[in-house]
Amino acid sequence: MSFCMHCGRPVTDSCVCEECSKRIESGKKPIKRGRKYGLGFAVPSAVCGVGGAVMLCVSVVTMLVYIFVLTANAVVGNDVEQFGGQLAGAVACFIIGAVMCVAAVVLGIISVRKFISTRGCPARPVATVVLGVIGIVFGAICIILIGVFVVCAAAGGGS
Ligand SMILES: [Zn+2]
Repeated sequence: MSFCMHCGRPVTDSCVCEECSKRIESGKKPIKRGRKYGLGFAVPSAVCGVGGAVMLCVSVVTMLVYIFVLTANAVVGNDVEQFGGQLAGAVACFIIGAVMCVAAVVLGIISVRKFISTRGCPARPVATVVLGVIGIVFGAICIILIGVFVVCAAAGGGS
């Protein structure tokens, strides 16, 4: 048995597999699939997932602390302005964190799909699927928690 010279899939009678020869015929570059295949998507996915989760935690805790302090101490005048500025920072963090989590899920799904596309290759990009799944899990949990938080905040604000 021999292997495709581009992607490394096992081939029977030629040195280029069917998929790679199709790509070459249509003018595209054959896909190089190896241990590092898809890492360009998987690494940012994991970074966005974990980073987004941290930003969301920090911003939610900050918001809750300020809301608690504001309601408990009836802060007035300059203090309110100061709190307002910091609260706006926390809200900005929250939005950036939310965007990062969405990006983590999208990039993670791309990474997992790339891993699946290496079926049959001798060197499968395990790091890609692991990091991609980390990105999806962190991102998805955060998006669910954002939903809960927003619903709670809306319910709390309405009552
Ligand atoms: Zn090939």
